[in-house]
Amino acid sequence: MKRWILGAMAALAGLARPVPVARALVVALAVVFPAVMFGWSSTEAAVPVPLVCLDPGHGGSDPGAVNGELHEADINLDVAKALAARLAGDEIDSVLTRTDDDSTKSSRDRYEFCNAQNATILVSVHTNSWSDPLVDGRLAIYFHSDDKLLAQALHDAMWSKLQPTAPDPTAFTDFDLKRDALGVLLKSDMPAATAEPVFMSHPDEAARLTEMVSDCSDAFDNSCRRAQIVEALYNGIVEYLASSPPDGEDDGPGNGKGPPEGRGPGR
Ligand SMILES: [Zn+2]
Repeated sequence: MKRWILGAMAALAGLARPVPVARALVVALAVVFPAVMFGWSSTEAAVPVPLVCLDPGHGGSDPGAVNGELHEADINLDVAKALAARLAGDEIDSVLTRTDDDSTKSSRDRYEFCNAQNATILVSVHTNSWSDPLVDGRLAIYFHSDDKLLAQALHDAMWSKLQPTAPDPTAFTDFDLKRDALGVLLKSDMPAATAEPVFMSHPDEAARLTEMVSDCSDAFDNSCRRAQIVEALYNGIVEYLASSPPDGEDDGPGNGKGPPEGRGPGR
């Protein structure tokens, strides 16, 4: 059995929010039943292999948020590359909309790239910022109704991983889901969501965010903030891939619980 399926089933077992037993059984049976009935081996099973399109926000002439020497574009790229490696460890393929610090990509460049790759999902990686340095918390953004389950999975996983480990857990705010017509979400052919795991404008978060994932003693334990973000987004993606998102009606305007002012999460 593919390792990503095992990881997905493990994620289901460890969900922060309860999953209906019926849905979990459907997922398990969908994986196990064909293998039992038709004798498929792990290499023969006709399980679609997911492809995750990771979009490190900003880059090139657009640094995103800036806090001293810390540029959001650099954090996003480092996190996205480490996330791709984390997913590859579970045989989940991914592609990146940019792989260096020099590329200036428009929103159209990004979603057209993901569409051309026939990606299963698009996850845009950002780092939030605010005029009030005491604000910290996480936010997930969606636009189309088909995006909402992905945003919810990322939202839940970020909370589970990043709130207890925040510099000030009691001040780490749940900004919930927000519906926003962000460029990269507008014309993606697949479920897409933007993740804003923490606020780099918070001085203690900023201090911890200076350490690159590659400099962490163990990239996937709790030793550094970027690694925690990687693990949170990984958990959210695996959880989403374990579910079967139904077609749904448009959910209308967002709940308006995002940051009340200032710069948004980017294009
Ligand atoms: Zn951004």
